[in-house]
Parts: sequence; C-alpha cells; structure tokens
Amino acid sequence: MYAGLTGSTRKAETNALLVADFRSDTVSRPSAGMRKAMADAAVGDDVYNEDPTVHLLEETLCGLAGKEAGLFFASGTQSNLAALLGHCGRGEEFIAGDAYHIFCNEAGGGAVLGGISPYPIPTDETGGLDPAQVSAAIKPDDPHLPISRLLCLENTVSGRVQPLDRVASLARIARDAGLSVHLDGARAFNAAVALDVALADVCEDADSVSICLSKGLGAPVGSVLCGSADFIQRAKRTRKLLGGAMRQVGVLAACGLYALEHNVARLADDHERAKRLAAGLDAISGVNVDCHGVDSNMVFMDPGAGHHGPLRDYLAQAGVVIHAQTPLIRLVTHLDIDDGAVDLMINVTQDYFAQES
Ligand SMILES: *Cc1c(COP(=O)(O)O)cnc(C)c1O
Repeated sequence: MYAGLTGSTRKAETNALLVADFRSDTVSRPSAGMRKAMADAAVGDDVYNEDPTVHLLEETLCGLAGKEAGLFFASGTQSNLAALLGHCGRGEEFIAGDAYHIFCNEAGGGAVLGGISPYPIPTDETGGLDPAQVSAAIKPDDPHLPISRLLCLENTVSGRVQPLDRVASLARIARDAGLSVHLDGARAFNAAVALDVALADVCEDADSVSICLSKGLGAPVGSVLCGSADFIQRAKRTRKLLGGAMRQVGVLAACGLYALEHNVARLADDHERAKRLAAGLDAISGVNVDCHGVDSNMVFMDPGAGHHGPLRDYLAQAGVVIHAQTPLIRLVTHLDIDDGAVDLMINVTQDYFAQES
C-alpha cells in the first residue's frame, strides 16, 4: 500500500482505504497544526461582536484583498448570496457566466430568496466572458426589463486563471453602465499565486469579493466576504437573516488564520503537481488531457467513451478516489495530494489501460 498516508487519513476508520482523493480541494482534512490553532483560539460570542479571532481573520483577509471590511461566513454559497442581496433588490438582475458557481451551483438563492433575476451569458473555454456579450446583456431603462444591477465574475473558473487585464475591461464595461461588480474569488488565492501577484491585485476591480478558506487553503469551514465598510455592515444584517450569525466561531476563524499563514504560498506546489499529473495522464494511450489548460490546481481528463465508470472503480481498488463525470473527469490537487499520490494516480490509470488493451 502507498506509504504517504497522512496521520489523520490513516486514523480515520470510516475511510481507511482512502489514499488519494482527487475529487475536490474541499476534501482535505485539517492538519495537526491547524487543529492546535483551533484548540488554542481565543473566542467570544461573535453575535455580540466579541470574538477576537473572528475579528482578526476579517481584518487580515480584507487587508490582503485591499478592501475596507470583511465578514466571516459559514460557506461561500452564503457569502455569495449575501453579496447578491447586498447589491441587488427585487426586480433587479445580476449578469454572470453560465458556468459560474453563483449561477449554476448555489440553488438559485438570489432568485429564491431575493427576487433577483440571474442573467447568464456564455462562458468561454478559458472561463472568461466576451466583453461584447456583457455589454449587450446590460438592459436599458425599459419597464419590460429587469434592472441590470450587478456583474458577477469568478477567478479562478474551473481552475482557469482569469487574466487581470481581461477582468479589468469587463469591470469597466459594468461600471460605465452603473453596475457594481462582485467577484466570486472562492479560489482567488490560487489565481494570485499562479499570476505571482498580490491578492489585492486579483480583487482590485471588484466592489465585493468572496474568498473561500475551505478549498485550497485547507480549512474545514468558512468564507470571508470583503467590500466597503457600508456594504459589509449591511451584509452583517443579511447574514443574521440567513441564519448565518454564529457564536464562539473563533475556533473556525483560527483555521482561516492558520491557513493564511501556512497554506497560501504552497498553492504553487498544488499547481506544479496538477501540471505533472496532466502530463503523466496525457502520455497514456487512450487518455486525453488539455495540458495547456492547467493554470492552477485542476486537471480535466477524457478517458474515452465507456471508461469513466470502470476507471473510477479500478482506481478505487487502489485507494484513489475520483468522480466519473462525462465527458471530462475533473481532478483536483490540494493539501492531501502529495507527489506519491500523483504517481499513484498516473500508474494505476496506466495499469487500467494496459489491462484493457
Ligand atoms: C466552492 C465554491 C463556492 C462556494 O461553495 P461552498 O461549498 O458553499 O463553500 C463558490 N464559488 C466557487 C467558484 C466555488 O468553487
């Protein structure tokens, strides 16, 4: 059996066979150091505004993002929803890429809870939007039409890093038409590390940004919404409304602070491993990977028609866990994927195709 098990993986009885889980960067487990930071965290009642660790996380992250204020949320979905509710009212709309999380993976929260219409426009293969389509999507003042209020961007998009000049020009179009800009920066740190710029540079063109601590940063829970002081003050009421105000939540904020200190620069390792994984898999006859599309920590593999389920099952016997999405299987590198796990994924996939042919 593969020797690179982390202590926490080895001890987990519920999934003792699990060796390398490539499904998402959300599956990593808090490290021993992170767990110690939780245990040692100073806490208070955050609804009373008395949790110093939450305050420190909010101040630290909004500072890194170059915004005035920050607010800790239980999830990125809740943080994005509070942003939608903060920017838009009933009968207003937000414009977003049709592949963006805020449009397709958040249960239509803006529409369900805010009476906010989503207006999706095509997302290109690099995760970007066409400036002409953004322009065309912005509605004139006409009683037949919803009121365009917000442009939602995302970075990274399915692992694709959005170039900052492109983000800036989309934001300018929105702003010139009187719209605000929200950035779903669930993986904004991956973008910053990949581009070798500061987080604030990635967030510069957005009025508000939502940043996940529970993806590549490796915390078990949490996102921080950053924006102007006034916007965040209103978001605090919305968070209460959504049932998301929490009490001694410094134990979770401590994970975020630990992650900011220890787990940001190392995202470059995840990106390197993703590139090596892509190249290794692409070299296997029967497998296709777009290696040029690997900007950060995601790899998309096409094992060929009919092989998705069988390959997943074959890998599972060796302790490698993947989804079997068609046509492309998404593989994600993260804190619990080391070099040995990458080798194992490549080698077992090679074995699968060797016994198939
Ligand atoms: C994960 C993710 C979110 C938020 O998801 P939660 O699971 O609610 O924390 C938002 N946007 C993107 C792009 C994401 O990947």
